[in-house]
Amino acid sequence: MSLNMLTPEFIIDRDRDRCIDCKVCVSQCANLAHIFDEEEQRVVSDNSKCVACHRCVSMCPAGALSIRKFPLDFKANANWSADAIREIYRQAETGGVLLAAMGTGKAYPVYWDHMLLNASQVTNPSIDPLREPMELKTFLGRKPDSLRGELGPQLELEIPVMLSAMSFGSISLNACKSLAMAASGAGTMCNTGEGGLHTELAGYGANTIVQVASGRFGVDAAYLRAGAAIEIKIGQGAKPGIGGHLPGEKVGEEVSATRMIPLGTDAISPAPHHDIYSIEDLRQLIYSLKEATEYSKPVSVKIAAVHNVAAICSGIARAGADIIAIDGFRGGTGAAPLRIRDNVGIPVELALAAVDTRLREEGIRNSVSLVCGGSIRNSADIIKAVALGADAVYIATSALIAMGCHMCQKCYTGKCNWGIATQDPNLTKRLNPDIASARILNLLRAWTHEMKEMLGGMGINAIESLRGNRLMLRGIGLNDSELRTLGIKAAGE
Ligand code: SF4
Ligand code: SF4
Repeated sequence: MSLNMLTPEFIIDRDRDRCIDCKVCVSQCANLAHIFDEEEQRVVSDNSKCVACHRCVSMCPAGALSIRKFPLDFKANANWSADAIREIYRQAETGGVLLAAMGTGKAYPVYWDHMLLNASQVTNPSIDPLREPMELKTFLGRKPDSLRGELGPQLELEIPVMLSAMSFGSISLNACKSLAMAASGAGTMCNTGEGGLHTELAGYGANTIVQVASGRFGVDAAYLRAGAAIEIKIGQGAKPGIGGHLPGEKVGEEVSATRMIPLGTDAISPAPHHDIYSIEDLRQLIYSLKEATEYSKPVSVKIAAVHNVAAICSGIARAGADIIAIDGFRGGTGAAPLRIRDNVGIPVELALAAVDTRLREEGIRNSVSLVCGGSIRNSADIIKAVALGADAVYIATSALIAMGCHMCQKCYTGKCNWGIATQDPNLTKRLNPDIASARILNLLRAWTHEMKEMLGGMGINAIESLRGNRLMLRGIGLNDSELRTLGIKAAGE
């Protein structure tokens, strides 16, 4: 008999003095970690099924549940961590590629946390955002180099924050609706991802970027015209260089109709666009999309932050893109091979600074707007991104967390107990778009206040004046090479 070497990751603690055996946890856990034992006439738990999503803890009316890490120590070894050993057990058992969801959990440096913002003292006094107007309005798109130049189509945002691509299929329709409602309420954009545009979301077109990915799912002329901008997805921070895979079980009637693919078939988007093998090919697609929409919408190109990203973005700008979105390697995803997620790509902070520098040096910075995504966690990250050179940022994981995601990182199982990353009707109905969108709006409102305060503290009254102003940043705990790439001085200098 083959032994199962995989011990549970978590322990479900049930306080028997509090538990009333109401079975709420049984009905709430799609992973079947709680079972009603008919013989004993009480609820019992199976630790091995728990993924620490905390749904049962939040829903238990008696406050009887808590979850903790399973305390199993391996002999200390700097090379062979418990995770490394467990991953080998899993692969030895299944022979399969390990899947992961959300952003990498590896302890790579987070450069946002190694940059500090400036504040005015005495000269160039700070501005009180409660008493004086502060401008966060942002326009994305090609800008002319002189007043006589032609202004291309622009995306007008009330705040420099957009909701990043999440496809219908990878997340539920209620989650898509929540994002669309929040984007509309905040005067910003959400993004269809590669899932096509569900008919129920057509009314949010003015606040939607429609994506064209390598699988071309859901793409036709009406789709291209439905959004405020079009985004060509070349790569994604969580899985640079590879395509996507939505299993057939998740392709129900609505996903099939929206993606324009047969019911129950796997939606596999290839790693490359099969019509793009050069910058010239990319240029052809950009201009085909512009033609199809009568040059009325900006076209964005989204790439993963990888080595040589500055040269790649220079090519994309010259190919006619109006916006470039750079997605860092800590960016989230519904499903990615774990090795790719944890080992491929570079931090978006370094990529953004390198790209902004290169485009300025080449004198083409105005020809394209830069959007930075992949682990923007709070308003300070946004302000630092803008100071590094971003025109705006994309957020996704933080928007999901605002909706109720508890970062269990099991999105690829389709059993999201919070109704977000699932197509199971019993689970999707748990997410109320009115409540979820209100929570995202609250988050954006809070960040808006904080951004204005940080700007005011620096004596700046418009976000545009901060863009690329790296004098407002100082590095801490960084080596010379990192400081040079970021283009900032060390704290104290
Ligand atoms: S998976 Fe979630 S709902 Fe199920 S037992 Fe664990 S914490 Fe509770
Ligand atoms: S979306 Fe759902 S499954 Fe994915 S990490 Fe969040 S709670 Fe877990």
